[in-house]
Amino acid sequence: MEVLTTIDQVRARTGEARASGHVVGLVPTMGALHDGHVSLIEAAIADGCDTLVTVFVNPLQFAEGEDLDAYPRPIEADLAAAGAAGAAWVFVPGDGEMYPDSPLTTVSVAALGDRLEGASRPTHFSGVATVVTKLFAIAGRCRAYFGEKDFQQLAVVTRLVADLSLPVEVLGCPIVREPDGLARSSRNVYLTSEQRAAAPVLHRALLEAADVVHAGERRADVVRALIENRIRSEPLAAFDYADVVDPATMRPIETIAVPVRLLAAAQFGIPRLLDNVAALPPHDLGDHT
Ligand code: AMP
Repeated sequence: MEVLTTIDQVRARTGEARASGHVVGLVPTMGALHDGHVSLIEAAIADGCDTLVTVFVNPLQFAEGEDLDAYPRPIEADLAAAGAAGAAWVFVPGDGEMYPDSPLTTVSVAALGDRLEGASRPTHFSGVATVVTKLFAIAGRCRAYFGEKDFQQLAVVTRLVADLSLPVEVLGCPIVREPDGLARSSRNVYLTSEQRAAAPVLHRALLEAADVVHAGERRADVVRALIENRIRSEPLAAFDYADVVDPATMRPIETIAVPVRLLAAAQFGIPRLLDNVAALPPHDLGDHT
């Protein structure tokens, strides 16, 4: 595995790979790699890609007062994890390589990015969309792997690729969880042991609500309230949002007649954790089983 630090190096390596008939796989990350990230790298390798992992803590997607400076940066461990998973290259640019000047050009996918995470973090998705567009421009034609863990981010990236006709195929990969259901996240390291014990309530609340949908509940507000009440029943969780959305548009649903996505977020001390699950109405469940 080769460690690359400049945009020119990435362009040269990915260009050579494509010229030899290989497909480039791109796995954008902010580092502090865990099994969730590794699953994306493994998916790219399983698809036969020459895989580029990027490790860049993108300042544009953090607002004032968020955890940009505190964000974990265990670079040696990240290189070892990417290498063990089979990455061909890891791109670790400095801030000066990515943003020699504060960018005047930004990308926003407004209607997809203004609710949910976007309501709690108003500048977040334009920061994500801008850096991802830039990584796509640097990597060139590729397959790009993103986790369903950040479900709204996946929707934003899928849409920006379609809107801007970028030569990128976006692939969503399933959420990797701890044995008790907590979604793996680089921010889980901030949890105290009590908060860690409480955090799986997020996933449990979503699963219980998905069961209610599978059993035939069609009123989204009832499902939304179930998720909220379950999270609020945990004293260490500060509830942020719960919603029932159309997975493509991220808009809220009123009546559940098609497969939907249930999403929730809550703060446990320092970290805000998010999670989501799919929920199918009974007729779709029947079709799929
Ligand atoms: P991050 O480093 O948090 O920006 O995440 C980089 C990529 O890894 C994103 O596409 C995330 O959705 C994905 N990811 C993070 N955690 C998980 C997880 N638990 N399961 C699957 N993918 C994940």
